[in-house]
Amino acid sequence: MSKAVIVGAGPAGMMLAAELKLAGIDVQIVEKRSVGELIESRAGGIHCRTIETFDQRGIAERFLNAGTKAQTARFGGSVLDISDFPTRHPYGLGLWQSHLQPILEEWITELGVWIRYGVEVTGFTQDESGVTIETAEGEKLHSSYLIGADGGRSLIRTMAGIDFPGWAAMRSNLIAEVEISRDAPVGMLQDQSGVHGFTLMENGHSYRVVTTEPALGSRTEPTLEDLRSSLLAAYGSDFGVHNPTSLSRFTDATRQATTYRKDRILLVGDAAHIHYPAGGQGIGLGIQDAVNLGWKLAQVIEGRSPESLLDTYTAERHPVELRALKHSMAQTVLQRNDPRTSALAESLGELMVMDEPRKHIAALIHGLDITYDLGAGHPMVGRRMPDLDLETADGRTRVYTLLHAAKPVLLNFQELNHIDIGKGRTHIQNMSVRLLGDIELPLLGRVTSPGAVLIRPDGYVAWAGEGNEQGLEDALAYWCGQVTK
Ligand SMILES: Cc1cc2nc3c(=O)[nH]c(=O)nc-3n(C[C@H](O)[C@H](O)[C@H](O)COP(=O)(O)OP(=O)(O)OC[C@H]3O[C@@H](n4cnc5c(N)ncnc54)[C@H](O)[C@@H]3O)c2cc1C
Repeated sequence: MSKAVIVGAGPAGMMLAAELKLAGIDVQIVEKRSVGELIESRAGGIHCRTIETFDQRGIAERFLNAGTKAQTARFGGSVLDISDFPTRHPYGLGLWQSHLQPILEEWITELGVWIRYGVEVTGFTQDESGVTIETAEGEKLHSSYLIGADGGRSLIRTMAGIDFPGWAAMRSNLIAEVEISRDAPVGMLQDQSGVHGFTLMENGHSYRVVTTEPALGSRTEPTLEDLRSSLLAAYGSDFGVHNPTSLSRFTDATRQATTYRKDRILLVGDAAHIHYPAGGQGIGLGIQDAVNLGWKLAQVIEGRSPESLLDTYTAERHPVELRALKHSMAQTVLQRNDPRTSALAESLGELMVMDEPRKHIAALIHGLDITYDLGAGHPMVGRRMPDLDLETADGRTRVYTLLHAAKPVLLNFQELNHIDIGKGRTHIQNMSVRLLGDIELPLLGRVTSPGAVLIRPDGYVAWAGEGNEQGLEDALAYWCGQVTK
């Protein structure tokens, strides 16, 4: 019996599997796609916090080498440059999802994660002792926890009876990979219905095409005829599109699960929240879900933390995602090209050249403004730990290198003064270091250095203080689990 079964080998499912494996948990992924089946080219890139999160696991270079660094945040026609943000990666990355996923898969395979392709989950039952999962082939899998990383139409969410309220679709798009018989204009076009565009693919003869349908499309699978008539409406030509290798429909339906956990069932990524891709935040939100949940679930499975720790997953991620969802709705409105919307975009453009509004919106899109409610205190508490340069007894390092193992880190900036955290907490890296440089946080600027910080495996600061307070002991017990004998 596995400790955790993840349904879906998309970005969120694979990242969660890695987090669990790093924590020593026996995990497997089941994926209904067959081995080598093409992944749709959906996302075209990722933002800063996602790159930072990969950096925290030592894999950022793999993605950076495969893509193109770019200023990826946009709002109503304005490009929001984050070159002046206090991060080692003040940019986003242009990288097709069909290239990003194999890189993630290569990494998790190195970690020893097993993806079982061609296995479709059709149902499950759960009781106090575990979950029994049924597959289309009639197999039964047993697991302590089941995680739905099975995308926006999540069967796991539906079968768990978790509500998915939100806003119904008002706009639909078709996305396809096709060949064309007549020259098409490469690049994006914006009109009254929305956006349309052609991109030449790496093979040099196929095109990725996206088009907003003139009227909300039906819920059935789209046809090549649907694509042709949508292109005809937008461009006055269908460019003789033929030979589709993929064709699907997505909408601006915006919905969020009321809870991300029901007993032994958990949701990550699109299974927990869907939105129109304007803003390009979907992958990043799923990756953040995975790194928020992974170590918590591992501690609960190991019996080091109570099950209630899992409730902090919904409590922390739900508000962050509600904000991102609403932002995507605002972005979607600004994609219309009627005179009134253009006037609004122009007014916003005047604000976006000013530092404060630019930084405010860019931090949201890049995931750099997240502040989990972890209690009052130093401004670093609840925020992402910056990747500071450090001098240690063994030489120079940086904070994100210390997070590669996905274990908690206690950094004591008062060099000589070792902090005693008691015996049995061997999974916590307890280090006395010298801070090289200042601490600067996005939107807040420079902050005074605390004496010490406790960093969770997801890279968020759980506690900051001097090191001799009861608060540290409380934070260690709550976030890092009970001392093992
Ligand atoms: C046109 C478009 C552009 C986008 N652009 C961006 C962008 O630029 N940046 C960005 O960050 N995001 C973007 N997104 C969003 C992004 O693609 C999604 O948010 C992301 O793929 C969600 O990842 P996931 O792992 O949650 O789910 P998915 O990627 O949907 O993966 C779910 C997996 O579960 C499997 N599965 C489903 N049901 C079962 C079952 N019953 N049994 C077994 N396996 C199952 C599926 O086969 C699939 O592999 C875009 C989306 C679209 C449509």
